Amino acid sequence: MSIVPAERTREIDTALRARAARVVPGGMHGHLDAAFLPPEYPQFFERGEGCRLWDVDGNEYVDLMCSWGPILLGYRHPEVERAAAEQAAVGDVLNGPTPLMVELAETFVDQVPHADWTMFCKNGTDATTMGVVVARSATGRRKVLIARGSYHGIASWSTRVDAPGTTPEDHANTVYFEYNDLPSLEAAVAEAGAKDVAAVVVTPIRHDLRSDLEPPTQAFAEGLRAICDRVGAALLLDDIRGGLRLGMGGSWEELGVRPDLSAWSKAIANGHALAVLLGSEPWREGANAVFATGSFWMAAAPMAASLATLRILREGDGLEQMRRAGERLQQGLREQGRSHGLEINVSGPPQLPFLSFAGDHMNQRAMVWAGECAKNGVYLHPYHNWFISAAHDDSSIDRALEGTDEAFRTIRSKDGAD
Ligand code: PMP
Repeated sequence: MSIVPAERTREIDTALRARAARVVPGGMHGHLDAAFLPPEYPQFFERGEGCRLWDVDGNEYVDLMCSWGPILLGYRHPEVERAAAEQAAVGDVLNGPTPLMVELAETFVDQVPHADWTMFCKNGTDATTMGVVVARSATGRRKVLIARGSYHGIASWSTRVDAPGTTPEDHANTVYFEYNDLPSLEAAVAEAGAKDVAAVVVTPIRHDLRSDLEPPTQAFAEGLRAICDRVGAALLLDDIRGGLRLGMGGSWEELGVRPDLSAWSKAIANGHALAVLLGSEPWREGANAVFATGSFWMAAAPMAASLATLRILREGDGLEQMRRAGERLQQGLREQGRSHGLEINVSGPPQLPFLSFAGDHMNQRAMVWAGECAKNGVYLHPYHNWFISAAHDDSSIDRALEGTDEAFRTIRSKDGAD
């Protein structure tokens, strides 16, 4: 029996896209632009609940993107929403922070082993860029080393050298190395000049666009730490995507490799806008010297949401639930690949799963498959890792797997192989 809902309409979405095209460049910009996705995907959404999402036309999805990471405990988690609403009712953006900033800073410092201080901001780009600025402030050096293909936000120190709107000078202090490749890191240090390296910025796992996810080797993480110590550069862990999903204390806690600085955002307030740069003692003075601020950075309601999120995660089994749900999904997908005779690769830690097809140039096959999944009420991504939340229970994963199975069947029949 087909699980495709009887009728999926697109009228409201289509009308909104036409209106947006007149008043927004390209109709939408950045990673949320549905033009990068298969045509079956909506651009506009109406609401979310738990692990479910509804687009503006009322079509329902099991959501495997979690708003691209921020949704950790499920959409509209009642305790998080209550905490944010109670704070918002008495004041959100005030002339300075509320006591919640101190409480939240203490919570992060208690929770994350390398952290002795915090600086709050709003987006991942704020936190990674502030980390670079702090490293330069502390060292008086210029160069930043990043892995080729890694994403650290939209600031020009980390964007493509040919990114529209940037100048060669914007990129002049960025030097590239290959992830998981210590000789290439040594070469980048030599190219930059060891005495001019302010920071090495690295994601806890390799999660580049259009690529299978790749864990760091223990030797790479330890070697990176040793190189930073040797040259006196900051190891800045960009934990924007992994933070809280892969562990409460930072995503490299299990490896036993401590960064000097770590950047967090996405999941820390379960969908409320907040980011944070964490740092260890030796980098405090450099941070203190920086003039860092933003009109909304000290908003109190997201901090209340973050405190609630961290408490729920600490006291409950959310981390374990995410891992279990992700494993169930990954195992189910692998079995489906086998049963349909399709060569697929399921990669990533269970909390950040991803699927690709063997030899799939520019993810064309994945685009067709993902479009079918969307038609079947499963929202995932054809060439970016997915995100699991603690609201994904067995039945929602099973529902997602019904949709993926049907989608595999459809692409097999399009191959003419059935
Ligand atoms: N670093 C990483 C690893 C990210 O995944 C992202 C966002 N996808 C960012 C930085 C930038 O975060 P934001 O979009 O909140 O600025």
